Amino acid sequence: NEKIILVNRPKGTPQKSDFHYEEASIPELKNDQVLLKTIYLSVDPYMRGRMSDRKSYVPPFALNEPISGGVVGQVVESRSGELAEGDFVIGNLNWQTYNVASDAEVRKLDPSIAPLTANLGVLGMTGLTAYFGLLDIGDPQEGETVVVSGAAGAVGTIVGQIAKIKGARVVGIAGSDEKISYLKDELGFDAAINYKTENVYESLKAACPNGVDVYFDNVGGEISDSVIALINKGARIPVCGQIALYNLEKADVGPRMQSQLLINSALMKGFIVSDYAAHFEEGAIELAKWLKEGKLSYSENIVDGFENTIDAFLGLFSGENTGKQLVKVAEP
Ligand code: NDP
Repeated sequence: NEKIILVNRPKGTPQKSDFHYEEASIPELKNDQVLLKTIYLSVDPYMRGRMSDRKSYVPPFALNEPISGGVVGQVVESRSGELAEGDFVIGNLNWQTYNVASDAEVRKLDPSIAPLTANLGVLGMTGLTAYFGLLDIGDPQEGETVVVSGAAGAVGTIVGQIAKIKGARVVGIAGSDEKISYLKDELGFDAAINYKTENVYESLKAACPNGVDVYFDNVGGEISDSVIALINKGARIPVCGQIALYNLEKADVGPRMQSQLLINSALMKGFIVSDYAAHFEEGAIELAKWLKEGKLSYSENIVDGFENTIDAFLGLFSGENTGKQLVKVAEP
């Protein structure tokens, strides 16, 4: 059994040397526990926040302890009355090749309903984030203009497609020409802007002739300054993530956009997906229905091998992924 532990709190952009691979022991199973082989694990931008020692909505990772996150595992030994050898489960588990968990810590998956990986993406945390953040806070109406940053990522791809389902005009912002083509040609975005090669404000102004009604913010920073400069009266801004700021050592100072909120009577509201935990099931059912109807599609970037987990995590900050970034740790 192998584990990945955090050995330093990263300063700025995390480095490989902030992590360490170590042997891990496997404790003897107690009643109601199972031994799980990790099949897939999820790497997510929010984990960067947990690597720092500051107050947030989840406690920081402890130094010299394993990182944890979304994991799909398969039961290889069971002392549980509910889970049998061979069953697949999902849970918040350690970055280890094997984990011991109790029944209560995991949820059984039915692989005949959806591919295992979908539970870590479109039907899991990132899909639900898109669903509730957009529909509850953004509330896009037919004919309105929705802009999403981080548009080609796990959350952004689903936000844009749900906005299309609701009849909005959708404009995405992402960091490569391949991603721009993917958004327009495969996901049906009305326009998409490469923030690395274009003047975001000028391109957005051209792409949003009627202004911006909903801005789903995944990135913060200068990109968001440009979008917020173009909002309409009554605009809604779900603040989902601020990835452009996660690795800054000093707080960023930029244009003060509050006056835009004020003069437009706009709403800007942060949220955490777990705010909607009581409604996860209905969200997952609707997402699954759209998938089945072909109204929603998703992409995944799957890196092979536990030894490549850190590279996969770091790749989130250089935009290596289109769609959900996952690591395949073992064959089922
Ligand atoms: P993504 O799949 O979108 O991966 C991150 C992407 O961010 C990269 O592919 C990269 O794409 C882009 N990016 C990286 N650095 C920068 C930068 N400096 N400026 C602009 N874009 C950058 O991740 P997720 O979909 O999982 O998460 C998206 C956002 O949502 C994150 O901010 C995350 O923290 C947040 N989140 C919030 C949740 C909540 O409950 N509020 C839950 C889940 C996620 P590119 O090539 O375009 O640069």
